[in-house]
Amino acid sequence: MVRLPRDKNVLVLTGAGISAESGIKTFRDSGGLWEDHRVEDVATPKAFERNPRLVWDFYRQRYLQSIEAQPNSAHYSLVELEQYLGDNFHMITQNIDGLHTRAGSKNVLEMHGRLRYTLCAKCRVQYPFTDVCSEEHIPVCPVCGTNLRPDIVWFGEVPYFLVEIEKLLKRCELFLIVGTSGVVYPAAGFVMTAKYFGAKTIAINLEQPDNRSLIDDFHMGRSGDVLPKLVQEWTNTNALSSNV
Ligand code: NAD
Repeated sequence: MVRLPRDKNVLVLTGAGISAESGIKTFRDSGGLWEDHRVEDVATPKAFERNPRLVWDFYRQRYLQSIEAQPNSAHYSLVELEQYLGDNFHMITQNIDGLHTRAGSKNVLEMHGRLRYTLCAKCRVQYPFTDVCSEEHIPVCPVCGTNLRPDIVWFGEVPYFLVEIEKLLKRCELFLIVGTSGVVYPAAGFVMTAKYFGAKTIAINLEQPDNRSLIDDFHMGRSGDVLPKLVQEWTNTNALSSNV
């Protein structure tokens, strides 16, 4: 048994793999397609300029799918870990599905945006999807009348919270990576910073991620199976404390 000391500074990075068991498809797993769409057709600023209706149809479907989906045991394990560690727990997610916050996670940075919000690129104001979106129309900004876009960081754009993330990476003592391919940058490079600044690195994935050489402990398997067991060990107050 290896208990995690409560004063250990833990940073978690999650990707699409953690939501796969909630029924939300990853896109690497289906040969570079995301729900049967090429990323270039739906997830770039150019695609939105070219065909805002197609992009909105895609994200409306993703939004509806995300509210139907339920968090799984991996999402709930991270809530437990946060309750155990308190302010020493932080999480970065590349996911846009909102399942971490719905499970109850508090300290989470959604670096690629949120399906449940839209954005006016002109006023830089975000509006909840449910307030402005309907089936028929492309939503428009209630203030300036510009087409609203999904509040998603697309390929070729700068992710949210990079300054905060860098601070967290430099400070963490344990960096836990769950269900991410290690292909999409800048998130794929976070492990390098964490490791350089002295963190131990642990990853859970169905297969070896691209940045496997930077992982100290690799657990191959489904996050819904592996993570609850790890968290149970780490938070077991009857076990001896150890240097996880
Ligand atoms: P990815 O699709 O590139 O990789 C998913 C990884 O998860 C793969 O390495 C795969 O082996 C692993 N995986 C699949 N099922 C798993 C399971 N049950 N347990 C553990 N690992 C599992 O995903 P990414 O690295 O997050 O990058 C894709 C980008 O596309 C994201 O940044 C995100 O913005 C977007 N996206 C988001 C969602 C979502 O919000 N759920 C879904 C698809 C894509």
